[in-house]
Amino acid sequence: MARTRVYMDWNATAPIGDPARLSMLEALQLPGNASSVHAEGRAARTALEKARRQVAALVGADPAHVIFTGSATEAANQVLTPDFRMGRSPLAIGRLYVSAIEHPAVREGGRFPLESVVQIGVTPSGVVDLDVLAAALQAHDASLGMPMVALMLVNNETGVIQPVVEAARLVHEHGGMIVVDAVQAAGRMTVDINELGADFLLLSSHKIAGPKGVGALVTRGEALMPAPLIRGGGQEKGHRSGTENFHGIIGFGAAAEAALEGLSERNAAIAALRRRLEEGMRQVTADVIIHGDAVERIANTCFFSLPGLKSETGQIAFDLEGIAISAGSACSSGKVGQSHVLSAMGFDAETGGLRISLGSTTSEADIDAALAAFEKIARRRPSAGKAA
Ligand code: PLP
Repeated sequence: MARTRVYMDWNATAPIGDPARLSMLEALQLPGNASSVHAEGRAARTALEKARRQVAALVGADPAHVIFTGSATEAANQVLTPDFRMGRSPLAIGRLYVSAIEHPAVREGGRFPLESVVQIGVTPSGVVDLDVLAAALQAHDASLGMPMVALMLVNNETGVIQPVVEAARLVHEHGGMIVVDAVQAAGRMTVDINELGADFLLLSSHKIAGPKGVGALVTRGEALMPAPLIRGGGQEKGHRSGTENFHGIIGFGAAAEAALEGLSERNAAIAALRRRLEEGMRQVTADVIIHGDAVERIANTCFFSLPGLKSETGQIAFDLEGIAISAGSACSSGKVGQSHVLSAMGFDAETGGLRISLGSTTSEADIDAALAAFEKIARRRPSAGKAA
């Protein structure tokens, strides 16, 4: 008998929503290439530019400053480069400073040589250490070129919100620029590129109930731009050549618009569900560790460890109970690696962590199913006995 599955891995990917699905179905009827001048081409261009406005609105940006890419990872690789232009003149970027908890898309440093990438540590709660960042910027050798900092707004494993506004102020005081990975934040909290003081934002469609394989690099202006990663026909004003992923972009736009609608009500509901989950977990066993619970977190994410339960074992056990959760971030190979986030937080990562991430369709019944599974799993782990 088929069992009902409960999907609780929204930070890995959000199930595609109706707004994206329906708009994509409609867009499939449009035959033209958005670069063509005939009526079919112009109709495609109109739809594409609407999506650009929708994505721009999600982050308070000027639509002219949205470059569509094939993923947030591609957008990261486009912008994380020492090869910049100020107008037509080359502009050197000397070093890239990344927080130690960045997603690999950023932590790998894009097109910077490895020796030019410096990691900035975080506190035990998983917040970037601004004193360490300030010291690094203070020590930056400006003769190499300007400093670039990459900091995520919300960590994908812990959900911890990072002090981007303060970091941006520091970076600008030191004559640098800041790239903000807003992949887990956009559509889940208010994100405004100007209020953040970010020079660049990275976005991904599939985290906001849009289709997979579409992202965007959003810029605050056009004066400082990275050399293109993909050259060719000059689409996206020469910043990203190749015929656009038209249907994907249309879906991304619709998802962005839908994500903005009712954002605060949706967040309040999700926060209540997480409270129910975390209170329930603590009632089952007092020794559950919820990472980042002492600092500000995005409403949908619960990253926890249970002494005696390895994250791989836990993930499989939840899966067998019908609950899809993740052991840290999803790796493309499906392998479960050590969480670099927990290591950076100084947590003895022997057991690893398990991430439950909720979304707009998560219900109280889903939370109760997850709690029932949690109770079973917690009680049968080798070091069980502390259950309340
Ligand atoms: N940044 C963060 C914080 C993420 O969580 C992810 C995806 O997991 C990415 C970047 C990469 O996004 P994409 O899948 O669009 O390459």
